[in-house]
Amino acid sequence: MNLQDYIRDIQDFPKEGIGFKDITPLLISPEATNFCLETLVKTLENIKIDKVVGVESRGFFFGTLIAQKLNAGFVPVRKPKKLPYETISASYELEYGRDTLEMHIDAIQKGDKVLIHDDVLATGGTAKAVCELVEQLGGEIIQMNFIMELAFLNGREKLGTRPIFAALTY
Ligand code: IMP
Repeated sequence: MNLQDYIRDIQDFPKEGIGFKDITPLLISPEATNFCLETLVKTLENIKIDKVVGVESRGFFFGTLIAQKLNAGFVPVRKPKKLPYETISASYELEYGRDTLEMHIDAIQKGDKVLIHDDVLATGGTAKAVCELVEQLGGEIIQMNFIMELAFLNGREKLGTRPIFAALTY
């Protein structure tokens, strides 16, 4: 199976000049979803993961599936003021301005082995902020995985030596 066949390119979304990778054709296919899930978890065979951290909102789809497969807990990272309990936060630079992400303060215990998941690694700002949240609570990042990496945006450069896996690379 070629996962690329299930990713749709949308030009000028959400803004003029941006080419958006749409994963909804993948989500609508049980076979492709299962193939993608297996591809993502295969790299974690025999590795203990305590928590899978998924990033709002497209990181929730596979984040919960991966957590179930690995028998790990799922932790949502969300935009500000969406989580009901006490939170910690991390901010990151956007092209214009800054954005903030939040996580519940009790979501990760010190020493937890953590997998971070999101749909797309683009410039790496989002993933870097999520790393900061996990590490603030003493979690150990075992891997960051993505459905796809837009390698031409060099997101990896922001993420240091932490292991990164992408099912697809553009
Ligand atoms: P970054 O912070 O620039 O790496 O952007 C990654 C975040 O933006 C992720 O949470 C993605 O969901 C979202 N994102 C960036 N580009 C795309 C895209 O082409 N398709 C879907 N999501 C994207």
